Amino acid sequence: MTDTAMIQGAIERARGRTAAVHYLGTSSGGFATYSVGSSRDTDAAYNVTVRDEQYRCTCPSELRPACWHRSAVAIIRASRLMFGLLADGPNPREVA
Ligand SMILES: [Zn+2]
Repeated sequence: MTDTAMIQGAIERARGRTAAVHYLGTSSGGFATYSVGSSRDTDAAYNVTVRDEQYRCTCPSELRPACWHRSAVAIIRASRLMFGLLADGPNPREVA
């Protein structure tokens, strides 16, 4: 499978799965951490960390060019930015 096909597939799998993304918080080092549920096993979640627009995922796809976990987090962050919020969240202030 080519990189482009893999990236395309990851974006397609991320569709409708943004509900599986949960923002856990941002570390003092600036790493925003998200828990993203597995599509196959609801008990299995992976962590996606974002720092300086670099996305990392703990799933087995880590070394591949793309996975739907990172894609789903990117969709949420892009939407938040578009609405004028900070990319990472929701944070406690927004929930209150
Ligand atoms: Zn992943």
